[in-house]
Amino acid sequence: MPTIFSHPVPMLALGVALGRRRVSPRLLLAIAFFAVAPDLDGIGFYLGVPYASWLGHRGFSHSIVFALLCGLFGAGLAPWLRASRLWAGGLAFLAVASHIALDALTSGGLGVAVLWPFSEARYFFPWRPIQVSPMNPARLFSERGLAVFYSECILIWLPSLALVLVSRALRFWGRRKP
Ligand SMILES: [Zn+2]
Repeated sequence: MPTIFSHPVPMLALGVALGRRRVSPRLLLAIAFFAVAPDLDGIGFYLGVPYASWLGHRGFSHSIVFALLCGLFGAGLAPWLRASRLWAGGLAFLAVASHIALDALTSGGLGVAVLWPFSEARYFFPWRPIQVSPMNPARLFSERGLAVFYSECILIWLPSLALVLVSRALRFWGRRKP
């Protein structure tokens, strides 16, 4: 996985780029949570669940079906999130899908069980530029941790920052038009 800090970044950037009127602060927090939620499966490591099991890390919680279920859950929370059901559900689905896509771009570990429950096969994209994060958080503070942060800065944080800056610039120029 990319680190827990980087998973919500693209969705936070998208939410900020879309603006407060389209994405309320509550909805922004919710989509950040949905972007991290699949990695709650890491608890399995402490419970002795094998990595390769559908219950293990990058198993069922990294599937399109799980993303759809999160979308339904997000749609159910829509009134509280101050959004339409379609909008809240769509963004919740997109947040989980972004997590799955980022994991499939990483350089190590097992792939994502994106087709669960129809298949337990694990998949990666053919191009895997993001350095995989160590599962032990203590190992983030090492040379390997620095390499992970560097690759995430270039491939996740910078494009996200660019999205926010471009959206701000477009809004600024839009306002200045007579
Ligand atoms: Zn993950």
